[in-house]
Parts: sequence; C-alpha cells; structure tokens
Amino acid sequence: MNVFIASTNQGKIKEIKAILGDHSLNLLSILDAEKLKKLNIVIKQDFEVIESGQTFQDNALLKAKAYAELTQLPTIADDSGLEVQALGGFPAVNSNRWFKGSASERNLALLNLLKDTNNRQARFYSVICFFDPQKNLVKFFDGEVQGTIATRPRGSKNRGFGYDPIFIPQGYEQTFAQLGIKLKNNISHRRKALIKLSRYLLPNKHLEQLE
Ligand code: IMP
Repeated sequence: MNVFIASTNQGKIKEIKAILGDHSLNLLSILDAEKLKKLNIVIKQDFEVIESGQTFQDNALLKAKAYAELTQLPTIADDSGLEVQALGGFPAVNSNRWFKGSASERNLALLNLLKDTNNRQARFYSVICFFDPQKNLVKFFDGEVQGTIATRPRGSKNRGFGYDPIFIPQGYEQTFAQLGIKLKNNISHRRKALIKLSRYLLPNKHLEQLE
C-alpha cells in the first residue's frame, strides 16, 4: 500500500519512515523524486500548505488533504509541537511560527522566556492525520511525551531537529538530541501516535509498544 507523508520537514519524514519502515507500507514523500515520477506525481518545489488552523488536528488535516489532492494517495500528516507548562502551554500549535530565526536561535529564545522560573515541565504532542482521498476517510491518532526543558541546548545539531537539544524526556537526563534518533524514536510523541496509526492500518501487524 502506497502512503504519502505530507511534510517538507526532513526530520519528521526520517522519523516517520524509521518508525513505520518495516511495516508493509510503501512510504513516499517529497524526498522520493524518482518513485513519484514513476507514479506521475508532480509536486512543485515551492508547494506549501498554509497552516491556518487553530489546533494540531486542524493543521494535520489541512496538510493531509492538500497533499492527497496532489497525489491521490492515502496520506499521513503530522502536526506537532512543544507545550511548556510555565508558559501556559505555549508555543503549542505555533511551535514552528512564533519566532523568526533558526531552530538554535528559537531554542535560545525559549530558554530566555523561562529564565525566571524553576518550572521546567513540558511535553511534546503529535497529531497524525490519515486521509484516504478515494474513500474520503479521515482518522486522527495522537501521542505525547512528558519531560522538562534543559537549562541550555545540549547535543549535536545533526542529531534530531527543532527543540530536540532542549527537551529532556521523563526518566532520562539527556536531551533528545543527546540521546539520538534511535532512542527518541522508541519513546517519542510521534512514535506513540504512529503506533495507533499502524494498529488501524495493519491490525494484524502493529508495532510493539516499547515502553
Ligand atoms: P509543524 O508540525 O510543522 O507545525 O511543526 C512543529 C514544530 O514543533 C516544529 O518547529 C518542530 O521543530 C517542533 N517539533 C515537533 N516535533 C518535534 C520533535 O520531535 N523534536 C523537536 N521539535 C519538534
């Protein structure tokens, strides 16, 4: 079964492929130019979905539908973000948009917002939308991972993406960027949502819950 991953975020695409990889799904994304060509699917380089929704669900659905319209394939979209308790859940659905600058600059800006508080509690939350354009079928699956915000960025820039250098998952002392992609993919918000998706798509072959 061909399933398209509606994302331009290479970090997300890699994680989704690594987590669902071995499971009878042929996962395609904008990174698979040759395969898309064979299927006569053309996605322009500047194709962009405006994430105008107010919730993770809204934006996941917007992305899934936009790419499904182009590809006519069953499509999955992840909308996710970081929710920081001391900031009333901010930046949540605006995690990718509240700050103009690089991911490292954004991490420093977030740490700065927390400089006067000892409350470092946070969670990553992910909503995966599955949309099948042939059946006009929409399903949502979600996952979270609790943790804390580090006092400074830790871990290589090449490991993980986004807020990974400042997020320490519960039960660990290192950030996602330090722990590395393999461990992250076993405990992440995205994995938990994808486990639910795989149970739905492949009821006899779902991923093991590794917690
Ligand atoms: P969106 O889902 O495309 O709106 O983007 C989600 C935002 O949250 C991005 O800026 C990511 O950097 C951040 N984010 C989501 N999931 C993760 C993660 O697993 N690690 C680090 N940052 C994440």
